Amino acid sequence: MSVFESTSFDHHEQVIFHEDSQTGLRAIIALHNTQLGPAMGGCRMYPYASSADALEDVLRLSRGMTYKSAVAGLPYGGGKAVIIADPRRDKTPALLRAMGRFVDSLGGRYITAEDSGMGVPDLKIMSETTPYVVGLDEGRCHGGDPSPATALGVFYGIQAALRYHYGSASVSGRKVAIQGAGAVGLHLLDLLIEAGAEVEIADLNLARLELAAAKGARIVDPKQILQAEVDVLVPCAMGGVINDKTVDTIQANIIAGSANNQLLRPEHGERLRERGILYAPDFVINAGGIIDIYHQQQGNTLAQRDQHLAGIADSLKVIFEGAEAEGISCERVAEDLARQRLNRQVFTQEQNLTSALR
Ligand code: NAD
Repeated sequence: MSVFESTSFDHHEQVIFHEDSQTGLRAIIALHNTQLGPAMGGCRMYPYASSADALEDVLRLSRGMTYKSAVAGLPYGGGKAVIIADPRRDKTPALLRAMGRFVDSLGGRYITAEDSGMGVPDLKIMSETTPYVVGLDEGRCHGGDPSPATALGVFYGIQAALRYHYGSASVSGRKVAIQGAGAVGLHLLDLLIEAGAEVEIADLNLARLELAAAKGARIVDPKQILQAEVDVLVPCAMGGVINDKTVDTIQANIIAGSANNQLLRPEHGERLRERGILYAPDFVINAGGIIDIYHQQQGNTLAQRDQHLAGIADSLKVIFEGAEAEGISCERVAEDLARQRLNRQVFTQEQNLTSALR
């Protein structure tokens, strides 16, 4: 499949395919945009059915990273890496070192981190062959795992959406449905239960459901979670969940979750608006992980990080207000906000260049 003809191609700066025959590594790195800084984004390992699926995923995810960092005010560009492999079967130290060499070959234009199918121990092995890995820090303040920070950012986002929709940010007594009891889903469950929400949750993995039930969540059939009659639907599993089949069946008043690329296509965001459902754009509400990584890199305190995380609520307020004022989807307003920041950066660079040439 041609990259340029892909529907997910969005003027990506570079897309690099790599095979290492010795270890069986097959991977793609996409650099979407490096205007704000080096392309930052996790490395995902997934048993894609085809290389076309892997390409589609890396193109969409890397674009989302550009927008995520831009809205969160971070000095990073957008990039992503995918390894076409089953993490339970194919992950070997040799393959991870080969992936590290692939990342290294870009000389720092791409910086990698954790994503689905990859953990901090895997990143540590990759870091044997490249310095361009972040999220390894298990130091004084932060852990290497970004999911607690992502969950906290989503929690602030849910509060912002509740305030906008109901006039009160209080989570107490609100009904919430979480799709996916993974790393983010379970951390978020803790925060919601502690704040007094009634939470139902679905997952395909029984062990994760047992953990969720022990924390006080009601377990629901995964086939029914998206149609739950709740105040807030929280997608924390995979992308594309808001699509032709589901968009008109959603009962929640608010959708606010961590999963990347929740809208299968932009028109699904428009349809949510028509139905009066408030949607928190994923790349805004799920920026907690990358914000955490930034503060790890700077050696900042947790208080500094948490202040930045709380800014997710401020960005969402601007987006919700903009969408209502302009009569367009929240996703479009969020993308415009990201592009404004990118354009400002180009403008400043051009100004600097002009004055340097004078
Ligand atoms: P994870 O792999 O730990 O958890 C995902 C969970 O979803 C798993 O338990 C899986 O069994 C479950 N799941 C898969 N398909 C499902 C289905 N159809 N119905 C119900 N459950 C299903 O991943 P995570 O780290 O918790 O991330 C969740 C989502 O948030 C992903 O889309 C990820 O890309 C995104 N995200 C995560 C972070 C982070 O810091 N971990 C940051 C930004 C975005």
